[in-house]
This record gives sequence, C-alpha cells and structure tokens, in this order.
Amino acid sequence: MNQPPHPPGYAVARPAAPVLPVFSSELLFPVRRVYCVGRNYAAHAVEMGGDPNREPPFFFQKNPDNLNPSGLFPYPSASQDVHFEVELVVALGQGGADISVDHALDCVFGYAVGIDMTRRDLQAKAKELSRPWEVAKAFEASAPCGHIMPVDQVGYPAAGTIWLDVNGKRRQTGDLAQMIWKVPEIISHLSGLFTLAPGDVIFTGTPAGVGPVARGDVMTAHVDGVGSIKVKVT
Ligand code: MN
Repeated sequence: MNQPPHPPGYAVARPAAPVLPVFSSELLFPVRRVYCVGRNYAAHAVEMGGDPNREPPFFFQKNPDNLNPSGLFPYPSASQDVHFEVELVVALGQGGADISVDHALDCVFGYAVGIDMTRRDLQAKAKELSRPWEVAKAFEASAPCGHIMPVDQVGYPAAGTIWLDVNGKRRQTGDLAQMIWKVPEIISHLSGLFTLAPGDVIFTGTPAGVGPVARGDVMTAHVDGVGSIKVKVT
C-alpha cells in the first residue's frame, strides 16, 4: 500500500482540519466538534414513535469531518433507507462549561442550514438493540452544511420558516419557534455535559416530514434569514 507523504514531526499523514465557509467573507470557520439534538420538534418526536411530553430532547454527535459543504451527497454504503433531516445549525465563537441560559447567545458566532443525513434502517436496528447511533449518524459526508451567517447579519433567529424540498416538492416544513429546547437552552444544557469551545457546531433538530432519498434526487433546504443549500444525491 502506498503511503502519502507526511509532514516532518508527524508519524502519519496529518488530517486536514474541517472548515465551513462564512457568508460574504473570505474567512473560514474551523470546526472542532459536531453536536446534534434529537427530537427537538414535537411533531417529529411523534413521527419517530416518541412522546415529547414524557421524553425530553437529547444529544448525540457526528464527526467534524462529516460536515459536507460540497453540494453533493454520495449515497452511503450499508443502507437502503437514507433520510434527510433539515436543521438550523449553530456555530460557536466562544465556549465554556455551565453556561447560563441568559449568557448562552453570547457564545454564538453564527447560524447555518444543515441536513442531518441518517441511515434510518441502521438507526432502527440500533434502537431495537439499545446500541449507540454512530453507524446511523456519523458516516461519510453525512452532514451537508451551507455557509455560516454571522450573528451581526442575522441576529438570533428565534422564529422563521425551516423547510426542505426534494426535486422541487415540499417534504418538511416547520418554524424555528416550534423547537422544544430553544438555542440558548441547548447551549446551556450542552455546556453542563461538555466543555464547549470556539469551532463547535450544533445541529438543533428537525421538524416533521423526514423521509428517504435516492441517487439523483436534489434536496433544497432553507431557513429564513440564514440561507438555502442545494444538495444532489450521487
Ligand atoms: Mn437530526
């Protein structure tokens, strides 16, 4: 097997640091960690078989290098049921531990539109066997994401339409105001579990209407004030 050249001082090739583009800027946003919120819109919790009145939202993670600003989504291996989940993404410019709800928004650098692509068949199997979700959530290119819209241009989008079309047909529609945990609460909760830092991004959950894609489909995802992304399944 050929080994790529690696820089002096490193035992193997050094991985590239994942980055996201910043709207209307030459600057790049360096990604440290990717957190995701599960079941943060009541109607989606119900369609997944949960009861939002009994079970609060929860966290899982993807890998930083799963973030995918390419506009292309290669259909992954090992699944016949890959679903889209349009989400508001929060990008942190500051971090810390035990951040209060009142101070949480001070940590936000900006917001983006993302899609939490999910191997639903592997997730169903993991749930059935009480196993972790990485095989369902943290696979290659599983987090299509657009530019980050800085807070100085968008403020805090507490309300606004979030939707996803497949091949021009509306499949998901919701409003950011329907989130069970709002962005400040998400940051506060998460900072009680992990020490947050600049470069962390958080997928904040998806509204109802999730469904499968096939090769050749084009997904368009949108959040009012934040932007739109178009992603082709290849
Ligand atoms: Mn999700």
